[in-house]
Amino acid sequence: MSRFKRITIKVGSNVLTRSDGKLDVSRMSALVDQIAELHKQGVEIILVSSGAVASGKSEIHAKSKLDAISSRQLYSAVGQAKLINRYYDFFKEHGIACGQVLTTKESLGTRRHYLNQKNCMRVMLDNNVIPVMNENDTIAVTELMFTDNDELSGMIATMMDAEALILLSNIDGIYAGSPEDPGSEVIKIIHPDQQDLSEYIRTDTSSFGRGGMLTKYRIARKVANEGIEVIIANGKKENILMELLADDAVVCTRFLPSSKEISGVKKWISHSDSFAKGKIYVNAGAKIALLGAKASSLLPIGVIAVEGVFEKDDIVKIFDDSDNQLGLGRIGFNSEKVADMIGKKGKKPIIHYDYLYLEQNEE
Ligand code: GLU
Repeated sequence: MSRFKRITIKVGSNVLTRSDGKLDVSRMSALVDQIAELHKQGVEIILVSSGAVASGKSEIHAKSKLDAISSRQLYSAVGQAKLINRYYDFFKEHGIACGQVLTTKESLGTRRHYLNQKNCMRVMLDNNVIPVMNENDTIAVTELMFTDNDELSGMIATMMDAEALILLSNIDGIYAGSPEDPGSEVIKIIHPDQQDLSEYIRTDTSSFGRGGMLTKYRIARKVANEGIEVIIANGKKENILMELLADDAVVCTRFLPSSKEISGVKKWISHSDSFAKGKIYVNAGAKIALLGAKASSLLPIGVIAVEGVFEKDDIVKIFDDSDNQLGLGRIGFNSEKVADMIGKKGKKPIIHYDYLYLEQNEE
């Protein structure tokens, strides 16, 4: 039986693609069998599946050489149709309905859109439908794209209050060193208070997907800090999901969850870095207050500069005077008003504590 009642599972392009670039249908079917079994046990599953671009590529040959955006649009349009059809048929064999949710960064950028997306997933789960998510690659252009589906799945796990996030790729976990080097081993457990391991992780990306180990690691740490266990494992191994969840000694990297409570709004803000519309620079005094043990809001007196054009309630990044990012927040005023308030005493907070996410404080 699974230890978890709600899980987000992300399947990477490499898991679903054979070495000749074709969709690995038998792997897909094996993963669906396991997900169906968990579903029957009463576990709520949200599946984030990559593979649209990769499966479209093997299906269609463009008439002329296409630029990166056009080829992604063409392949994902065809590949996503193929992918969801397969999922639909495989789940149907188990008497389970799945539904397609295609999203974009923009559709998660405001609190209203975020809650709307959450509601969509909730209503699906409440009706026993398994959401199968992907980024809508046909309309998400470069600057508005998720870094990869690892980022998307981290956000979804947080949004849906999942107890676990499982990232399936084609390697066994995070290695201390290069996976090709026989001397390097998979790091089995990463504790929430453990030092940053980024420097030991290789930075190249896999052949079919966009993500790499370093982004996986960073997302995993962030999500684990929000109280969700994150597991990075090899999706090409037989029966991997069942084994992981039965807590067998299967090789993988587990990021143990922090026990800290973070509000839903702060979790949303923590994943909103790429939606930020502006920057707020604070002085040394404000930095000390914000990072101190006592909960503090950001007041105008601590602000030294503002950049960008934003509206009230937009997300902004917060920097110290040496250009180090301290965190993110939902701003209480538009950029013009903030510019007028800089350095003034006795005004209302520019960012209220409840809408502040400070990286250092949450780790
Ligand atoms: N959304 C892309 C696809 O389905 C994959 C992005 C990624 O590699 O994470 O092809």
